Amino acid sequence: MNKATIIGTGPAGLTAAIYLARAYLPPIIYSGIQHGGQLTTTTEIENFPGVDEGITGPELMNKVAAQAERFGARVIYDTVTKVDFSSLPLKIWIGDELVESRTVIVATGAAARILDLPRLRELIGQGVSTCATCDGFFFKNRRLMIIGGGDSAMEEAQYLSKIAAEVIVVHRRDEFRASKIMVERIEKNPKITIIRSAVPDKVLEDDSGLTGVRLKDVKAGDLSDHAVDGLFLAIGHDPNTAIFKDHLDLDEKGYIKVHNFTETSVPGVFAAGDVCDPHFRQAVTAAGMGCQAALQVQRFIEELGLED
Ligand code: NAP
Repeated sequence: MNKATIIGTGPAGLTAAIYLARAYLPPIIYSGIQHGGQLTTTTEIENFPGVDEGITGPELMNKVAAQAERFGARVIYDTVTKVDFSSLPLKIWIGDELVESRTVIVATGAAARILDLPRLRELIGQGVSTCATCDGFFFKNRRLMIIGGGDSAMEEAQYLSKIAAEVIVVHRRDEFRASKIMVERIEKNPKITIIRSAVPDKVLEDDSGLTGVRLKDVKAGDLSDHAVDGLFLAIGHDPNTAIFKDHLDLDEKGYIKVHNFTETSVPGVFAAGDVCDPHFRQAVTAAGMGCQAALQVQRFIEELGLED
């Protein structure tokens, strides 16, 4: 039986793995379908402490995985398909294979919602992004479009307007979901243009990547082409919690509920990173929670006298 099992190899899961391995509790860590997590879809990362020259997302996460493995964590490139936390030991299935564990850290992250448009996914990293904080820097003095009408879209439009020459915010309704004060700010910003009641209909591209977006007016049905260098999607995130919904308390949006830092509704199961944090969603905050979860696992194992 494993003493500690971690589900997810993003910054939260791998940081937890480093801490557990260094406490002589080397964990088994399952990568899921996206080893390295959401960071592996970004190009350059320059806001993670210690990467002063910048580093690509996959490079950073490979380094963190190697660091965890150097201390004895074992990364398994497979996906957890089912769990049962209703009795001890905690049970995890990888297909037909059953793994039992004393403790589990859930660090399965979240996934940015992507519009259902042909070619859009292929253009992520070539003009299309789901993270203004990560990728905005690369669009200095360019023309950008951002899709969404929530607080994230407003915040990201404001952020991008400090970098770009022009930002077009496109929302599918006339009314914004975002808080009034955030909407007022973008309405007053001379670098931001708002297009209401419109949705992207097609992405325009050439060999180098995205060149523009065709919008459709949802009331009149008119189509209009807009030349832009970058398209940012801010239409929300979904936590990766489908397999936990009958086993852990989730909030109304599906995020794992945590209390006392990283404890979940089941003793011995802890959660860290974007799977339980809809607010910050940064690699460094996820890593911080991963550290907290690992320290709480250590204490849990000590208190139960399960060290040996
Ligand atoms: P959100 O509030 O769910 O907003 C998502 C937006 O995307 C909505 O305007 C929605 O349109 C639009 N949308 C969804 N699917 C779409 C589609 N297929 N096509 C076009 N548009 C689509 O998500 P969020 O903005 O990421 O915010 C998440 C949470 O974090 C919220 O509770 C928010 O208040 C909070 N947050 C707070 C701050 C802050 O206070 N500083 C900053 C960021 C986020 P509809 O409105 O028509 O549904």
